[in-house]
Amino acid sequence: MPRITNWRLENRTPTLEYRNTETGARAVLHRAPDSYRYKWRGAILVDGYPVWSRGYETKGATAFRNALRDRPAPELSCPECLNGDVVVRGKTADREKVQRWFECRNCGYEAASEIVYGAER
Ligand SMILES: [Zn+2]
Repeated sequence: MPRITNWRLENRTPTLEYRNTETGARAVLHRAPDSYRYKWRGAILVDGYPVWSRGYETKGATAFRNALRDRPAPELSCPECLNGDVVVRGKTADREKVQRWFECRNCGYEAASEIVYGAER
């Protein structure tokens, strides 16, 4: 199996964590909250903003690593104009749930991020 490029293993247990050596993005595979449909959740986070996530029935380390292998350099891009110059702004917290806002410097599109759970912070 080929090596994963650009992702460095940082932690193995209880969460599996990788850091992208080029962009500094984090990738985590952690137990999901009880209310979540799947028991495990893998996510790639840029500045705490989830740019990709997927649920897993088990701690699917191999499936997660395969997903990272396909994504050597995650980028945050605007869903409106596909511009890559997007900035993550402040966050609002509602008890353990944290939500971030991001803004496109090209077209001004603004959106709330998905909810970021405690384990991802
Ligand atoms: Zn835009």
